[in-house]
Amino acid sequence: MLAIVLVPAALLLADLGGFANAQTPAEVRAIRDRRKTDEQSPPAAKTFRVLVMPIRWKDGDASYLAPRYQDPLWRNVADFWRRETYGQQALDVTITPLLESAKPMPGCNHAQVLSEAQALARAAGYASNYDRYVMLSTPGCGMQWATIGPMIFGYTYVSNEGKAAHEMGHAFGLQHSSSSVAAENLYGVYGNAWEIMSGIWPDLRSWHFNAYDKWRIGVLTPLPCADATLRPIEQAPDAIECAPLWAERHEDGTVWVWKRGATKSSYGAADNMRMAILKPGESYGGIRNAGDGLVTARQP
Ligand SMILES: [Zn+2]
Repeated sequence: MLAIVLVPAALLLADLGGFANAQTPAEVRAIRDRRKTDEQSPPAAKTFRVLVMPIRWKDGDASYLAPRYQDPLWRNVADFWRRETYGQQALDVTITPLLESAKPMPGCNHAQVLSEAQALARAAGYASNYDRYVMLSTPGCGMQWATIGPMIFGYTYVSNEGKAAHEMGHAFGLQHSSSSVAAENLYGVYGNAWEIMSGIWPDLRSWHFNAYDKWRIGVLTPLPCADATLRPIEQAPDAIECAPLWAERHEDGTVWVWKRGATKSSYGAADNMRMAILKPGESYGGIRNAGDGLVTARQP
């Protein structure tokens, strides 16, 4: 019932290379420059087609659905995805022109949003199948975003690229990530300002997927529970699993330990939690940061 059929892409983000440099923040340019390096590497093993549908409901304020906001936002989400999957996965994002609805905003009725988006997109010539769908509405639902299977419904914060990438993570089956450090927990779910499934803030340059989430989306296979020298997780898909713990090395020389398992929360399920940040010489649960990337590991 939720399946919708839409047309191929008129507007590919990849075609927007000459986007107005003058108004682009420095961090966006940095991400773009990094992507130039990526473009010299082999094509991604897997490409996911994403259709973004901005919808103006009757008398709605569509200012933040304008291409000058949405084009760089989704390009940055695609860059984030390519970077965090080490170039193994690509998001091929198509954004439809603004879809004008004669109907009033149906509030948080996702089914009505979906059926109207489907009708409008079809009428605009988008009728082929995509792997993920994003429906961005003008205001009228108090909820921020909702992701149901491969469908992302954006109701507010639709100009926040960090939130968009976070929701895309949900659309790939990821749950929230938490932290054992109470002071870091916002709303009892979000754990730290590094893991994208922990937070919702802008500037994707400083956000990542941890080793567990990389494994969940299929771009990392953990090493068995034994001593190993790891490359930084920001650069390579290296991690050790000593179930239920995961260890990953970071560029700053620390080793982070995550615990796999459901965590209670009022903002949606979390299925992993950061337990420790180990400086050289420190250990947690059988995992020790021995320095220079060497991690010694014993089953806890
Ligand atoms: Zn979430």
